[in-house]
Formats: sequence, structure tokens, C-alpha cells
Amino acid sequence: WLPAEFEEHGRELLATIREHFESIRDVPVTVPRSSADLMASLRTELPETGEDFARILGDTREQVMPYVVHWNHPSFYGYFANSASFPGILAETLSAALNVNAMLWKSGPAASALERVVLGWLAQLVGYPEEADGVLVNGASLATLYALAAARDAALGDDVRVLGTAGRDLPVLRVYTSDQAHSSVEKAAITLGLGQANVLKLRSDEQGRLRADTLDEAIRRDLADGVKPVAVVATVGTTSIGAADPVPALAEVCARHGVWLHVDAAYGGFWRVAPSLADSAEDLTAADSLVVNPHKCLYAPMEVTAFYCRRRGALARTFRLVPEYLTSPQDDEIVDFMDLSPQLGRSFRALKVWWIIRSFGRQGLADRLEHSVRLAEWLRGEVARHPDWRCPVTSIYPLVCLRFEPEGIRDLTESDRRKLHDMLNADIVGDLNASGDAFVSHTVLDDGYVIRVSIGNIHTSRADVERLWRRLTEIAERRYAQCAD
Ligand code: PLP
Repeated sequence: WLPAEFEEHGRELLATIREHFESIRDVPVTVPRSSADLMASLRTELPETGEDFARILGDTREQVMPYVVHWNHPSFYGYFANSASFPGILAETLSAALNVNAMLWKSGPAASALERVVLGWLAQLVGYPEEADGVLVNGASLATLYALAAARDAALGDDVRVLGTAGRDLPVLRVYTSDQAHSSVEKAAITLGLGQANVLKLRSDEQGRLRADTLDEAIRRDLADGVKPVAVVATVGTTSIGAADPVPALAEVCARHGVWLHVDAAYGGFWRVAPSLADSAEDLTAADSLVVNPHKCLYAPMEVTAFYCRRRGALARTFRLVPEYLTSPQDDEIVDFMDLSPQLGRSFRALKVWWIIRSFGRQGLADRLEHSVRLAEWLRGEVARHPDWRCPVTSIYPLVCLRFEPEGIRDLTESDRRKLHDMLNADIVGDLNASGDAFVSHTVLDDGYVIRVSIGNIHTSRADVERLWRRLTEIAERRYAQCAD
């Protein structure tokens, strides 16, 4: 393509995107299709020669777009509903056009400088020291892996040199977290060779929080047994129910025992920007390392996670390794971002965050986040008023966990009643998602199967949430009537 053709095709693509968003409420969130059908429709011969863009775009519109799950849909409430805002989408295009590799300051000076700027802004938004080391990475899972690698090295000190050396015994190394922590903590331990069994998943309290005394007791027990504590991973915004561990109290325990505190605030970190949550948000300043996800709550397209470490130099001690072909001049302003994680080639992630924060400003972000919080409050109010529904847990974030428990079921044992309720709730999720009217996900708590409604899409309106509630109750009643028959 010549640049002029690129522009022409770009216009066609932008028109397609515009049309998509202008009619988004008529677009099913997803259209169920079997994997075999999908593969059959897409599997064609490897093209020998180039094809027209019109044909490629046409096939994309017909064969691909209808069958994605539209995460960027106002009726998407699954997992953690993230959304890609328009400034972020456009910035991704420019970032691809420039195709900067921000591995070294020398290889991407303006991209590296911008990364420092946005890391500072994001730190201000979540209340973390701006002078901390920081780097943008692709996701929270890898950030936690990097944090635990640095924590392991810090805990081992000079012994780190004998890792992997035959005949040198090291103590068992332990990571502490709660039974609500994200699976990425265990995956990190597996990847680092710490062993999944050495992640102690401590029992959380009835609100899903890891208590400081529970942690203190576990560390003391381990120390008495000669086990070496490496790190504690606290979560602010747990995946299942949106609980937040008490970071300052856990930090005190960690400080007492000299243990690294990593905070996974992938979901919860940015909600403090919403005015009504500013006072209830956990103070994150005491975390040795921190992860927050602009691609979860800050309207950034996938993938961008901010990873910070206030122990200056600790990340570089673990990850800095400079072969001759990557040497470059240094000065005080320079950060070679390849030194702060194992990743070398890095895309220009800072651009989309810069555009988004500049487009909305702190105030605009606060208004949008607050809007989601209010929608969740409205939904919780409806659930509370309905005799057959309840919220088994309440999060401060706009994650609503709800469960249909019709009273009318008589003559059943407690356990059969629970099984029936579990089945009904699973059927409601299945029917709603299959209808394409909305998309929700689920979790399982002590109470049983629970429907999770995560509100966070930038375009979700009160009317959308009202429609969701209507659909949930309609489907629930239909399912219940069928099982009563
Ligand atoms: N931490 C928490 C609390 C999460 O909920 C998730 C994903 O939902 C992750 C970490 C993993 O995030 P990512 O997909 O960015 O790796």
C-alpha cells in the first residue's frame, strides 16, 4: 500500500468502527457458535497472493466481528468489565504506525520519557510514591511474577548466587497470600521454581480479607520451622468478590518480619479516584511493589499494566543484564526500561495512557468511575428489594455478586435446595449469555454459585443496567417456572 491507500483504507475502517459503536445496542454481546463451525468458517487455504483490503475487511465484518465476545459493549458485565475508550483506540493506531521499540532510552527516547510521565501520573492517581521505580508491562500476572522474582532475590541476598547450584541447600522459600488471591500468584511461584505448594493461601475472613493476625501467626510458625518468608501478596479488589485486604495492617506485619509486601491492585487500584470511594480505599503507600491495571478500569485498550517498586534498584538488581549490542549512554534522566523486567522488545504503551488521561483529565476519569459505582448501587438496591434475590457479599467496587434464591421451594432438604439454587443460577448465566442481550460471569462462594455483574464499561448507562436487571429476573422466573412444573 502507498500512504494514500493506507489513508483510504483507514477511513473505511474508521467508518466500520463508527457504525459498530453507533448501533452497538443492536449488536448482540456475543452470538454463540460452536468451535467447529467457527474453525470451519475461517479455515481457508494459505493465501498465495495478496488480497484486496475490501475483501479482507468484508470477511472480518462477517466472519469475525459477530462472533467475538464484545468486551467493549455497554452490556458486557463479565470478569472485570474493562473498556477501550476512543482516545485509547486511536493512540493504539499511532503507536502501531510509529512501531517504536521502547527497550532502551536510546531506542525510544520520547516513548521512554512519556512512560516516565504517565507512570508518575498513574502513581498520583493510585496514591503511590512517584519516585518509585516503575515500568509498563502487558498484564498483572506477569507484573506479579516479576515482583516475586525481585522479592525472592531480596530475601536471599548473597545466597541468590547459589540458586541452581548443586550441593547448596537453601531453606524452603514461602509466599503468603489469601485464599481469595488471583491464580497468577501460584503461577508465578510455579514459574520461578518456588513451588505451588510453597504459596500459603491463608484463610480469609468472612468479608474475603486477609487478616493481619492470621498472616503474623503463619510467618511466625514458618520462622520457627526454619522456612524463609519471601513475600506476602495482598489483593485490593479480589477477582471473585472485590474484597480488599487491609494493606497498612499487613504492611506492619511485613515490616516486623522484614518481608516484601506486593500488592495486587490490578482491579481495585484506580477506584479510589471515584470521589465516593476516596476515603474507603486502602492506602497503598506501604507496598514494596504494586500492580494496577489501566486496561481494567482506566479505559485503556488491552494490554497495559503499571508495575511499581518503591525499593529503588531492586528490579534492576534482578533483571539488569546488558550485552554489548545493547549498551547505551547513561545519565540521571535515563531509564532503560529493559532493565526493570525480563522483556526486551516493548511496545509504546505509554501513548494510549497519555492520550486517555489528557482527554478526560482526573475530573473526567473521576466522573466516569463514580458513574459505575452509582450504577452498581442502584442494582444492589433492586436486588435488596426483591424477595427472591440477594447479594451474598458486598464490594465497595462496582462488582455486584447476586444469587437467585426463590423462597417457594418447599419440602427440600437444605442440601437439595442449595443444589437447585446453584443449578438455577448457572442456568440464568447460560441463558442470558446465550441470548446476546448481556454477558455476565460467575464465581462459587461458601454460599454456592453466584452471578457476578462487573460494571465498568465507559458507555454503560442506567438504562442498560435496568435492562440487565429486567432480563435477569425474567430468565430467573422462566427457569423457576420450568423447574416447578
Ligand atoms: N489480579 C487480579 C486481582 C485479577 O482479577 C486479574 C485478572 O482479572 C489479574 C491479577 C490478572 O490480570 P492480567 O489479566 O492483567 O494478567
